[in-house]
Amino acid sequence: MKNCTIQGYPILWIVIPCYNEESVLPLTAKLFKDELELLIDTRKISDKSKVLFVDDGSTDKTWNIINELAGFDEHYIGIRESRNRGHQNAILAGMMEAKDKCDMIISIDCDGQDDISAMGEMVDKYLDGAEVVYGVRNSRKKDSFFKRFTAEMFYKFLRIMGAEVVFNHADYRLVSSLVLDGFSDFKEVNLFLRGMFPLVGYKSDIVCYERQERMAGESHYPLRKMLHFALEGITSFSVKPISLIAGLGVMVSILGFIGVIWAIVCVIMHKTVAGWASIVCILCFLSGIQLFSIGILGEYIGKIYLETKHRPRYLISEKTWEKSERKYKG
Ligand code: UDP
Ligand code: MG
Repeated sequence: MKNCTIQGYPILWIVIPCYNEESVLPLTAKLFKDELELLIDTRKISDKSKVLFVDDGSTDKTWNIINELAGFDEHYIGIRESRNRGHQNAILAGMMEAKDKCDMIISIDCDGQDDISAMGEMVDKYLDGAEVVYGVRNSRKKDSFFKRFTAEMFYKFLRIMGAEVVFNHADYRLVSSLVLDGFSDFKEVNLFLRGMFPLVGYKSDIVCYERQERMAGESHYPLRKMLHFALEGITSFSVKPISLIAGLGVMVSILGFIGVIWAIVCVIMHKTVAGWASIVCILCFLSGIQLFSIGILGEYIGKIYLETKHRPRYLISEKTWEKSERKYKG
């Protein structure tokens, strides 16, 4: 039995990253607590279980709402990051806060897009021995065609690039404290959690659910951020692009060599014509490839640079259960 288990039931913490979510939090907070209470009443989890909100440096009333919730019911607690560090770091902060205080966590977005009622099945799988349970979207009907198409291409591409990811799984997952302990030794700054958990290992399972539309507010992941996240995923988990560049270099050199032979043959046969356009085209093509390749190499070098700094991935400035008062040295 694990450390935190009280009276034979495991403790669950639901970890919810929130960034400027004042419009949706009042709607979904109750749904999370209702699900927690259902699991407590059906004797699957301990009544010491919690709903942990992680405020990712919001600039709206999100932190006030979290504080109000915490004052209203002891199942709600919250921590606040000192500034906005992004979705992945917010989940990490919540997981590390929960690590030694519970037997399992479930991470889920706060906008109600992921089916909250799938948590029961996740806990069942945990009770059956799974250490990680991945929430998998079984269809993307509610997503726009563009989001569906790009997301599916992204997962396929990640696989081709050699990263181990669960198809159509985002960040809705149950993780046991055993896996969290192992995970805490993964110190990288460039986080791509969905690619990291398969690396930790242990017995895993999946639960399928239907993805809904956001209940209120707007997505924080427009195309620009999605592309950045996709690039982060690929370059954090695979060095294949660098090998591909090398392969491409060899191919272009062979083509160049053939081109030189062709040019010599043309000169010998007196068939030379003024070929300004073809030269410009070839030059543009090759400089495009060169710049693209340098860009990819730069991505990796940038990552090495950030990792060598060993900066903290987040800082916690407040907790709902610890009232911060300024202390003076004098
Ligand atoms: N989020 C966060 N920090 C950020 C951006 C987003 O903690 O910098 C949270 C956000 O509050 C939500 C989750 O991450 O709970 C997913 O964000 P969103 O719903 O905007 O993304 P989408 O579902 O559209 O990809
Ligand atoms: Mg969302």
